[in-house]
Amino acid sequence: MTRAVFLDRDGTLNPLVYYADTQEYESPRTAQALILLPDILPALQLLAVNGYQLFLVSNQPSYAKGKTSLGNLEGVHRKLVDQLTAADVQLTEAYYCYHHPKGVIPAYTMVCDCRKPAIGSLLKAQDSFSINLKESWMIGDQVSDVSCGQNAGCRTILLDYAPSTNKRNITPELQPDARHDSLLEAANWLIQQS
Ligand SMILES: [Mg+2]
Ligand SMILES: [Zn+2]
Repeated sequence: MTRAVFLDRDGTLNPLVYYADTQEYESPRTAQALILLPDILPALQLLAVNGYQLFLVSNQPSYAKGKTSLGNLEGVHRKLVDQLTAADVQLTEAYYCYHHPKGVIPAYTMVCDCRKPAIGSLLKAQDSFSINLKESWMIGDQVSDVSCGQNAGCRTILLDYAPSTNKRNITPELQPDARHDSLLEAANWLIQQS
């Protein structure tokens, strides 16, 4: 059985982007708007050399909400993968949820099983790649990442990324295993645990 680290994307690997039309920090809507947060590559390399398969698990509702095109979102993903590949970091799989329950694009407007905190993508990874979820971790910057990991039986790390502070109202019953300021700090702590 293989162990994995499930990684949120926005606010975990790359910064959120401020958009004037919504006056909110959001996922990058175009490849141009994607950059990596500091020390992401050494953090991912550290997890990989310690035997963790890396998965991306990301909610991307902006197409369903009519804010960007699927082509643009694919461009964001390609740019991310190019930067990881250049540093010899391989994602085993990337799972994106493009749905939203209150979208404006009918085909993507639904309650689905892949929008975090739902665990559809983690179960897919378990089945497709023989991942042992109990030996695996979810790392992200929002409560929905912690809930998703916990719902799947993984351990969880919450990242204190400043622009998403309003998405981190942790209830007493929903405590992550650890909180860290960056992915590199989280990765260093995580490998001490195993
Ligand atoms: Mg996030
Ligand atoms: Zn979905």
